[in-house]
Amino acid sequence: AKSAGGNRYELADPEADARAITRHGLTTALPAALDRGEFFIEYQPLVRLGDGGVHGAEALVRWLHPQHGVLGPDRFIPLAEHTGLIVPLGRWVLEQSVRQAREWQDRHTGAGPVRINVNLSPCQLTHPGLVSDTVDILERAGLEPSALCLEVTESALIGADDDLLKPLRRLAEMGVDIALDDFGTGYSNLANLRRLPVSILKLDRSFTQGMQQFPADPVDLKIVEGIVSLAHSLDLSVTVEGVETGAQAEQLRILGCDTAQGWYYARPGPPDRLHELALVDATG
Ligand code: C2E
Ligand code: CA
Ligand code: CA
Ligand code: CA
Repeated sequence: AKSAGGNRYELADPEADARAITRHGLTTALPAALDRGEFFIEYQPLVRLGDGGVHGAEALVRWLHPQHGVLGPDRFIPLAEHTGLIVPLGRWVLEQSVRQAREWQDRHTGAGPVRINVNLSPCQLTHPGLVSDTVDILERAGLEPSALCLEVTESALIGADDDLLKPLRRLAEMGVDIALDDFGTGYSNLANLRRLPVSILKLDRSFTQGMQQFPADPVDLKIVEGIVSLAHSLDLSVTVEGVETGAQAEQLRILGCDTAQGWYYARPGPPDRLHELALVDATG
């Protein structure tokens, strides 16, 4: 395309141009995609580091685009946030995931409640319907609030004022767990944690990456050890994400992390995959 010549307005980077067109195309296609049912959810198990049992699962949304195939959330969530579609899309994800958790629970009674983690974008936090929608969805599915965990990124809560925290507090009072996602990537004051209605820290994948060698970098170990002991002293539980190897899992377990998630255990997959994993766990 660079050789087309003559046209002085031609873009120097045709790939960037293509990306921009795709971005625009994706943005305009989003609302119809929701109506047409092109979104689907994959579930990734969360595993207890202590006994290896399945603790629950995180819901991760995907878009089966008729031309581009399966698109990951990084491709379209920012666009949905920009246009406001994230509110109905997020509500859809919550509803599907809560129903799915209830179904897992019904299918293996006796294995205890199945916990479901759902990501919440900052735009959903400021939407006035958050609390009532969540209550509605839980009631309609017949799932107890304590089976739900809403994940909010650390950056969304940095400098959050009381108005922003109020709906999260209400949900936490009802028994919904709030997790601080991607913890350690923002620059929040650790002492600030006491002010937030969170009960779980999700350590960002960058920390897990530091545990790839065995033994891990001593400085990385010290940092994670410090975060874990601080979290536990504040009664928060610690989940680690991005665990890809057994060595990582073992070091994170020794450091006292409570729950782990990552390819080492399972990639995100269809709901039946998790049912199998949980069943294996329930029957030992
Ligand atoms: P996240 O919440 O930090 O989710 C974890 C991401 O790490 C997921 O990427 C997951 O597939 C990936 N992952 C899991 N285990 C491993 C591993 O062992 N190694 C590596 N390298 N990666 C691993 P995914 O599914 O592409 O999601 C990306 C982000 O999109 C999520 O990051 C989350 O912030 C956002 N997202 C996903 N679903 C939703 C949703 O329903 N609503 C909102 N608002 N955001 C969502
Ligand atoms: Ca998450
Ligand atoms: Ca995360
Ligand atoms: Ca992330």
